Order: sequence, then C-alpha cells, then structure tokens
Amino acid sequence: MTDAARQQPVSGVVFDLDGTLTAPAIDFDAIRRDIGIERGAPILETLAALPTDERRRAFRILEKHEEKAAAESRLSPGAEELLAFLDRARMPRGLVTRNTRRSVDAFVARHRINLDVVVTREDAPPKPSPAPLLHALERLDVSPAEAIYVGDHEIDRLTGEAAGVTTYIVRTHPEIKDCGPDERRIDRLSDLIGLIRTSRE
Ligand SMILES: [Mg+2]
Repeated sequence: MTDAARQQPVSGVVFDLDGTLTAPAIDFDAIRRDIGIERGAPILETLAALPTDERRRAFRILEKHEEKAAAESRLSPGAEELLAFLDRARMPRGLVTRNTRRSVDAFVARHRINLDVVVTREDAPPKPSPAPLLHALERLDVSPAEAIYVGDHEIDRLTGEAAGVTTYIVRTHPEIKDCGPDERRIDRLSDLIGLIRTSRE
C-alpha cells in the first residue's frame, strides 16, 4: 500500500513556523551562546528551569533574536504555491510554533498570509508536547487522521507522532540531520500539493 493510500483524504494542514513556512533564519546556536546555555540544549525547557531574574534576562535575549528573524523573514521555497493551493481548495490551515504570538503577527503581516488558527508558546505547552497541535486541530475542526502536519525538525516529527497526525519534514535545514522515514520527507512545501490531491481522489 502506498503512503498516499494509507492517508485519509486530507482536509486540513498545520505548519510549523521557523524553518518550515519561513526559510531558516533563526540561529539557535547563536541564541544559546548569547544566553550562555549548552550547545544543543532545548532552549525553552532550559530557560524554564532558570531562576526568575536569569530567566527574564534569557527570554529577552531569545525574543530579540526571534523578533529580528520574523521581521526579516522570507517564505520557504514552495510556500506561496502551497498556500495558494490551500486557498483555492478552501482548506483550513493552522500554525503551531514554539515561537511567540508577536513573532507570528510580524510574520503574517509581512507576508499577508491567512491562517485560521495560530498556537504559540503563550497558548499551550511547547512541542514536542502534542497539546498545541491537537488544540489547533480542534479549533480547525479537523480530526488528526484527516490532517497533515509539516515541520523541519525532530521535535516536529515527535509532535506529529504523539498527536497521531501524518507528519512531513521539509529539508530546509542543512545542519539538521534528516529525521523520519524517507517517504515523509519533502524538498519544498509545494511537494505537498500532489500528496493532498492524491489523498482526495
Ligand atoms: Mg522549525
């Protein structure tokens, strides 16, 4: 059985923001360096464990990086084509990110993108918890089995798996090793157009 055959007709798409809808712009290692945390450490989880004053200082550094990246963001390859296709198909779409509402607002305003739901780190526990993805799907009124989730990182793969949502990983991050099975990796977001069409035939 092919992957497309296993997939129920897709009736909603949820995206990660950084490195998925946007071309990669946030230098996470620079953030870790500026804050003074270990290379490779999960940023939000490490900051959550800091004493209050230190945590505030660290979040200010993180937010400065995130806001700059959102203000200068570029759409990732194929994003415009995919979003236009979703518009034509009148398909609900959402965004789930470990980033802030403020960054998402700046991104949405810059690129004039329509999103039916946005779940940020202010709204729910961060990915890889499945909670933000499940929350987005509930708001979209799309079941996990009829949805696809698109990310660019192992965190996204784990989130999708925990939520029971078919997850595709776009290869925009040269420094991050491929994660997930081959058939769930895509080179550009517009590769999903064919997959969605096939699922609905
Ligand atoms: Mg990402």
